[in-house]
Amino acid sequence: MKGDILVLAEHRNAVLDNITWELIGKGRSLADEWGTRLAVLVVGSELDAFIESLKTSGVDLVLPVQHALLKDYNSELYTTAIYQVCKQFSPALVLMGYTYLGMEIGPAAAVRLGSTMVSNCNELGVEGNDLIVVRSVFGGTLQIKVRLVGAQPYLISIVKGVQPRDNLAAKDAAVETLAIDFDEKRLRSRILEILTIDTGGVDITKAKVLASAGRGIGGPDKIPLLRELADALEGELACSRPVADMGWLPIAHQVGISASTVTPDVYIACGISGASQHIAAMRDSGRIIAINKDPNAPIFRVANYGIVGDLLEVIPALIKQAKA
Ligand code: FAD
Repeated sequence: MKGDILVLAEHRNAVLDNITWELIGKGRSLADEWGTRLAVLVVGSELDAFIESLKTSGVDLVLPVQHALLKDYNSELYTTAIYQVCKQFSPALVLMGYTYLGMEIGPAAAVRLGSTMVSNCNELGVEGNDLIVVRSVFGGTLQIKVRLVGAQPYLISIVKGVQPRDNLAAKDAAVETLAIDFDEKRLRSRILEILTIDTGGVDITKAKVLASAGRGIGGPDKIPLLRELADALEGELACSRPVADMGWLPIAHQVGISASTVTPDVYIACGISGASQHIAAMRDSGRIIAINKDPNAPIFRVANYGIVGDLLEVIPALIKQAKA
């Protein structure tokens, strides 16, 4: 397995998302190993600032696809851009984030290209001549290794926060603008308005301490206990996805790849198993304390301090200690 590598850059509100740098870091090490080129594709309507920062990010080539129609995200146009860039640039591998963007357009692009896609990957590497990826299944409780076969380019979406983003060596990359043919008349969807969620003033990304509730708390009647812990530590409440999905806490409190990424000084995971989609968004916290009655819960792999026990006994003891 050898060939050029293409990374799909992501941006929102005029800022490149961290996943871009993580993908470039991974792509760079693979391209160096294979002796091939690393290119980054950036799609949008005003790309000058992105092109400037991507040029010195360690890639060999920046491929901007700029068009007035791309002012707002549109999955059909993005899919067309990836499809046509792949046809012109012929990469062996396309890396994108396992984000809402990658989840939506990755499979669509793979179908159009008639090639292979594996999503939700934590790691990728080469064994012999084959590309191997590791991905989570069953909510992160199992990791499986997948050997890619079939038509290239292989499309891989990688979970946020699992690749380092500090190994980027500056390079002065070439910029090559590719002509993409967008047929506006065939567009079936258009963004009318982008709605923002009312967070009620909660911003978990700014909290120094987070007391985070998982499904293991057992029910919404335990939220006041978690609130007491957060208050005793002058922190804020956070939660895993099931807790938000079940309406025990508003989504503004959710940590994970579908919600906020947090880096508090202290993150206390209470009854959270540690699925990859959760861990990816809190693993960079200063100190992680996990309370779980299952000693084999994956959360303990990232925890600095682990307490194996019933949270209904442990949390009151912590509150007592914090208030003492
Ligand atoms: P569970 O996995 O059910 O874990 C509950 C834990 O509580 C268990 O480990 C159990 O041992 C423990 N427990 C039970 N009772 C007690 C007790 N009395 N005392 C102590 N411990 C106890 N998840 C997110 O969190 N955020 C996301 O943004 C997110 N995005 C996702 C996106 C996609 C595309 C997919 C497929 C999944 C996503 N998930 C996300 C879901 C994720 O895979 C997990 O299902 C979820 O994180 C599990 O939440 P949990 O740990 O609270 O619940």
